[in-house]
Parts: sequence; C-alpha cells; structure tokens
Amino acid sequence: MFGRAPKKSDNTKYYEILGVPKTAAPDELKKAYRKAAIKNHPDKGGDPEKFKELAQAYEVLSDPEKREIYDQYGEDALKEGMGGGGGGVDPFDIFSSFFGPSFGGGGGGSSRGRRQRRGEDVVHPLKASLEDLYNGTSKKLSLSRSVLCSKCKGKGSKSGASMRCPGCQGSGMKVTIRQLGPSMIQQMQQPCNECRGTGESINDKDRCPGCKGEKVLQEKKVLEVHVEKGMQHNQKITFPGEADEAPDTVTGDIVFVVQQKEHPKFKRKGDDLFYEHTISLTEALCGFQLVLTHLDNRQLLIKSNPGEVVKPDSFKAISDEGMPMYQRPFMKGKLYIHFTVDFPDSLAPDQCKALEAVLPPKPVSKLTDMELDECEETTMHDVNNIEEEMRRKAAHAAQEAYDEDDEMPGGGGQRVQCAQQ
Ligand SMILES: [Zn+2]
Ligand SMILES: [Zn+2]
Repeated sequence: MFGRAPKKSDNTKYYEILGVPKTAAPDELKKAYRKAAIKNHPDKGGDPEKFKELAQAYEVLSDPEKREIYDQYGEDALKEGMGGGGGGVDPFDIFSSFFGPSFGGGGGGSSRGRRQRRGEDVVHPLKASLEDLYNGTSKKLSLSRSVLCSKCKGKGSKSGASMRCPGCQGSGMKVTIRQLGPSMIQQMQQPCNECRGTGESINDKDRCPGCKGEKVLQEKKVLEVHVEKGMQHNQKITFPGEADEAPDTVTGDIVFVVQQKEHPKFKRKGDDLFYEHTISLTEALCGFQLVLTHLDNRQLLIKSNPGEVVKPDSFKAISDEGMPMYQRPFMKGKLYIHFTVDFPDSLAPDQCKALEAVLPPKPVSKLTDMELDECEETTMHDVNNIEEEMRRKAAHAAQEAYDEDDEMPGGGGQRVQCAQQ
C-alpha cells in the first residue's frame, strides 16, 4: 500500500471515452477525437459533459509525457499536480485547435484567441407543479450575479495596467510540497492566495474606483424561465453564458433543473397520469359517474357503460388525457383511473336474501347434511395487513434462530436455514 510509486488508479477510462485501444497511435487518437467531438459538440445539440470528457481524454493521451503517467499510474496521478489533466482544460480550446475558433466558440467567439478558462455553471432547482408542467408557464426569478466592471472593463485599474503578482511571479499558481512518507513527496499546485489565481496585482493609486480593483460588480438580474408543456422532472433549462462573469473567462451557464412537486390527486409516470378513485359496491355493480377536474380545470365526465361491473383494483384508461408530450404538446399520454371498491362491512339477513334473489346463485354443497355434521367447526378472524403479519413472523423466527445460535455454537447454523422454510 505505501510503496514509492503513487497508488495506481484507473488507466483505461480515457481510451474507452475515445473508443480506441490502449495501443492506439497518435494519428488514431486524433481521428477518434475529431469524429467524436464533432458529434458531441454542445452547439450542435451534443452533451456538454461528454464533450468535456472527450477533450480531457484527448488532452492527456495526445501528450506523450502525460500519456505515460496515465498508463502507469492512472488518472489520479495526473490530478495530483503532474499536468493539470483533471478539469483544468477548456474543451472548446482543444476543439478550436482542430477546427479553428469559428466553429461555435461557446462564448460568442470574440476574444478567444488565447487560452480562456470556462466559468462554472450555476445550477438552481426550479419547483414546478403538475399544473405548471401540463399547461406550461413562465416564472420570473431574480438572481444576483457578478458582471465585469464597466468602468475598467474588468481590468481592475484605471490605466488598464497591472503588475505581476509578487506572490507567484505572475503564474497565478503556487506549488507546495507535501511530505507523505520518509521517501515520498507530493507536489501540489494551488491557486495563489495573494492574487486569487489571477497572476496580477494592481497598484493602490491605479485601482478602479468603480470596483475597487475587484474587476467585477454584483448585479441583480431577473430571468424569465419558460416551463414548457410536458417538461419532465429533472429536465434542464439552460441560459447560456448568464452565470458569473470573470476576467478572461468564458462565462458559464445558468441551469435550472425542473423539480416536479407532488400532486394531491394525480400521479405522473412519463407522459401518463394516474388517478385514484374509490366507488361504493353499489356503484361498482350498478354503474357510477364521476366529474373529474383536470389539471387545466376542464371538467371531465367519466361514467361506466350501462350494465358494466367495475371490479376492485382494476384500471381504466382515457386516451389523450395524460400529460402533453414535450415539444409536441398536441400529443398526450393516457389518463389511467385505478378503482378501489368500498365494500360494506356487514349485511343484515334480509339484505342478504334480497341480494341472493338478484345475484347469480351460490354454489350448492354436494355434501349431505349428515356429512356436513361430521366436519370440524372452525372460526375465522380478520387479517388486516397480511404483509405486516408475515414480516413480523419472519423477524420473530430470525430472532429465535439467533438466540438459539448463541446458546449452541456450531450447531445453530443449520437450524436457521430450517426455521426459515
Ligand atoms: Zn499571485
Ligand atoms: Zn472597475
């Protein structure tokens, strides 16, 4: 465990991401990356996470030095300061090195000649009722965010000049060395605390009065979020480039994640809705009628067909009364109604007689009265919750087996098996 070499971690993932064998030549890597990156570019509707992974994998494997570290020690070794393989790469930069900055820069493409960091995305949950998701709605949300100071255009100084930070000699990073063991050291890179990773410091007299040298200001911003018909729980609504601004940084996105609230009447499964309805035994046998208020306040009249009997625990469905489908709101899922039949607890003898007169006859016993007299009498009692009763029995049996096991070490194991059968 505590050898000289860093602990080995996964070293196949990057190859799998690019879909190449471990022996892939540089040309092969290039081709694989190019193909996958075009396919997954966020501007072309690709998954940004996947796009980032591809860039990260390619960034490491295309550098012979990093590839060797990765092959030998895996991803963690690279993260521990050996080459910034863990997250420091801008996927758009890598992409641009292939195709030039013209192909969807992600941030307007204005100032992306040199290496730019991408700012963090800001993620907010967005609560939405089932009514909101059925009808669609828009919500105005007020957010506070950092914007570049307009007075100094994000330079922090009146003159636009800055000095190199004396703490890190302008690199923005400080290297610290940690002793892990008698013959092991770990090198770690951390953002410089004096300049907060910017690499520059500003003369006191030259400081911008607008932002006091901070380069950014806080701004309140109201975003109007459109919750579209049929959106799903956890669906993302993205405002590209609306997160906190920072100098020399491509602004990240504000992402709202739809959080569907529980509804007291309807349950949703994908595009379908489920509704619980309890009817009396009389309704089950002789017909029922229900006026259901839908999520858009329409009143649906739902009734059984003449002569139809509704069985307990049965379902019926109404087409096109489920949830609207996302981006095809004229198409809708189904509305399922689940029926529970409320039986009477007891009946008086004359009620039984009346029912027997109209219901199908009872099965007739084939035994004679004499034969019946010879049978043993029994009494039944109610079981309210069979699952609960079975659970309690199993727990009891397990406890007993355990107690026995305690008394007779060695011989108890077999008994447990028997007791449970
Ligand atoms: Zn510094
Ligand atoms: Zn300023």
